[in-house]
Amino acid sequence: MLQVVPLSAFKDNYVWTLRKGGHAAVVDPGEARPVLEYLARENLALAAILATHHHPDHVGGIRELLEVHEAPVYGPRNEPIDTLTRPVSEGDTVTIPQLEVSLSVLDIPGHTRAHIAYYGAGSLFCGDTLFACGCGRLFEGTADQMYASLQKLARLPDDTKVYCGHEYTLANIGFARNVEPKNAALEARETRDRKLREAGKPTVPSTMREEKATNPFLRVGEPAVIESVNKYLGSRVSDPVRVFAAIREWKNRS
Ligand SMILES: [Zn+2]
Repeated sequence: MLQVVPLSAFKDNYVWTLRKGGHAAVVDPGEARPVLEYLARENLALAAILATHHHPDHVGGIRELLEVHEAPVYGPRNEPIDTLTRPVSEGDTVTIPQLEVSLSVLDIPGHTRAHIAYYGAGSLFCGDTLFACGCGRLFEGTADQMYASLQKLARLPDDTKVYCGHEYTLANIGFARNVEPKNAALEARETRDRKLREAGKPTVPSTMREEKATNPFLRVGEPAVIESVNKYLGSRVSDPVRVFAAIREWKNRS
């Protein structure tokens, strides 16, 4: 059974660490230190490094890891990551024999221009695209691209575990409640996740089922969400991409 362990980096990043037997792979090691400490403490060999996008808080630790461990470095084909040895894009599969796992690569542009996700073993590693109850900012892509990327992820099975790159959940839920104050699932999620944070535990992973029930960026077709957006804009829109873009702008300003 594949184990997925969160390693904390910086203030609120997660380096997701997949482990089996004496081997591990890491997703988005922005910092090397927590990874090196964990691998040494647990006596694990590094089998692979996976990057979702080029931002320094996701790839900044790779070079230092490679000074100690020899491992292939997977990441988006069309982004500037100078430590990549295995550039990948949608249609590619990342196989890590030591962990007996294969992950499909999905192109999910929007946050950055060639952001990718890894999906396999019932788990999705989606970096800064889909967050627990939120989504990434549009730094290099358009609202159309991000909307399409999120819809692509939403088509994965409901039981998919969603491993995102940051612990932003409580703030995201706070915003989501402004958009959908009457969503009971959202209220329940806030109660549960607040308790988790009070106990010092991660709120991630969530499931795709839960994201579809509570994440406003996946709920742009819901009448209550459209109504809130229209109030915010002071005009009537219902086109899903325009609703999405308005929620993204609303959140940026909140
Ligand atoms: Zn980022």
